[in-house]
Amino acid sequence: MSETITVRCHGCRVGMKIKAEYAGKLRKCPKCGTIFVVPSQDGETTPPAPEVLAELRRQAALAKKKEQEAEASAGSPGSSASSAGPASSASVSETLPRPAAPKITFGFGGASSENAIGAFGSGAGTSSSEETSEDIQAEGGIQPVERPKRLEPAYRYVILDSERMVAYWQNETGWQVNDGVKLVSARRNAQVIPKQGDFRFLELQLGTVDEEFRITKIRIFQLARQYSVTKIAQEENDVLSTITRHAGLTRSQKNALLQGLKKHFMRSVWADSPAVYDYLMNEDFHSHEIS
Ligand SMILES: [Zn+2]
Repeated sequence: MSETITVRCHGCRVGMKIKAEYAGKLRKCPKCGTIFVVPSQDGETTPPAPEVLAELRRQAALAKKKEQEAEASAGSPGSSASSAGPASSASVSETLPRPAAPKITFGFGGASSENAIGAFGSGAGTSSSEETSEDIQAEGGIQPVERPKRLEPAYRYVILDSERMVAYWQNETGWQVNDGVKLVSARRNAQVIPKQGDFRFLELQLGTVDEEFRITKIRIFQLARQYSVTKIAQEENDVLSTITRHAGLTRSQKNALLQGLKKHFMRSVWADSPAVYDYLMNEDFHSHEIS
């Protein structure tokens, strides 16, 4: 029986036991999906270095591109689905240079049992002695994050912490931060921007349906716990680089979003969009894309 350490996910605070041999390696939290570095002894996990995250994203983008290319060249959707996935991920791991940091192992969807991230789904997660009382569902490899590349002028963006709207972006005003009473320019009020917390980044896609202005889609992401929102005082797209994964909203975050929508939009913009209205009212705390 190998030694285990008790760690706490820095993303969602869930406790879990991990084999000590994974110290220094990357794992994916089975509960919230945050990618973390396993500490060498009991304690809280840490996020990977920015360059490691960048490499993961690069790999994910590359894998996705290859998959799309394979799909485009395949005759039927059925044959592409069975051949493109494993083939593309295998060639990605073969052709990519290894990262400089010695102990870090990368893994992506369909990861082998040899890498630290894949091991969560195949090995560690299946033994009840390695789980805490919280019900951890084992997952597969890391899902690529499809981050917005830039803030779209026609859309709106919202940042929530665990219970309120922290910031709001629209093309006309740029990033505005909630100073506790109202929204003020983020650039000129950088001191009121929270430096750490559990942040969600929302893209509200707007369009016309039956000639009416509506929210047509909402995408939800998790931001890094520290020094992510502070970037809104700088170049307005900078905050996008701090997105760590797709995420859902809690009940209090949904309520905060609802208050924000009531404040910033005519009721018809969100209330007449059945998917959005239903999502705000229902008990779905998992979906990260609503349309
Ligand atoms: Zn977590």
